[in-house]
Amino acid sequence: MAISRAISWRNFFLNLRITFQYSMLGREQRMEDALSAELSQLIELQELDLDIQKLTDRLSKIPAERDQMEKEFAAHAAEFLALKSKHEQTLADRSQIESDLATAQEHHDKYKQDLMRVRNEKEYTTALREIDATKKQIGTYESEILKRMEELEKLETDIKVNEPDIERKRGEVDQLLHTLDQEIAATNTLLTTMRSRRQELVVSISTEMLSTYERMARTRRGQALSAVRDGICSACRVKVRPKLFSDVRKGDQLITCESCGRILYYRPDSSQIVEAGIN
Ligand SMILES: [Zn+2]
Repeated sequence: MAISRAISWRNFFLNLRITFQYSMLGREQRMEDALSAELSQLIELQELDLDIQKLTDRLSKIPAERDQMEKEFAAHAAEFLALKSKHEQTLADRSQIESDLATAQEHHDKYKQDLMRVRNEKEYTTALREIDATKKQIGTYESEILKRMEELEKLETDIKVNEPDIERKRGEVDQLLHTLDQEIAATNTLLTTMRSRRQELVVSISTEMLSTYERMARTRRGQALSAVRDGICSACRVKVRPKLFSDVRKGDQLITCESCGRILYYRPDSSQIVEAGIN
């Protein structure tokens, strides 16, 4: 699961970078569109802001993702460590039972010798009873040892089976953590470039226009501008009046959507660039 998450973010990240580079390259072309220069700058500003927001959101989620990976690994390894400790315990149990067995065997042998030296009926009965009791004890210990040996065999198989998996899992986690480190570094580099581009844009946009944009962006989840497509405001999906639409197409004045209040713009071919930011 963590792997597919990492891959999908990687794709998103690559797309974003391509979009950003494209939007930097396409800037001059966009000036050829029927948009006023300032509106064009506002569109780029919105694209930048939405992308910066996505990247910073992504960065803020990485620490939790790292923790989750380590947690999953610890849970995975915990079973293996429990298996190893069970193995050690069983070994210790077996050696205790073996020593008990040796003691029982000694007693058994001693009573057998006693039997040879009995002097009366009472000593004879006692020796026989003890021989019988120690024999039973020996039988119990022997079957206990057999049981432990079977357990040990199973545990050893499980350990042998799981050991490479644990090592592989650790390798995978390390690789994913490394990928996240690379992503953080690349994202920070990209953010620096984007923020400096934003700074350039901001100084070239009039204070009034900028504060209108920022006020609207704050209340509209970063989307102060909206493209008109097929005569419809792409943000609120309400139809734009034909007269208003024709003014938007001219692009020489600031037109806002009568329904959602966003600044409307029209761009015939390069609509896919802003699309990424409209969700
Ligand atoms: Zn609208």
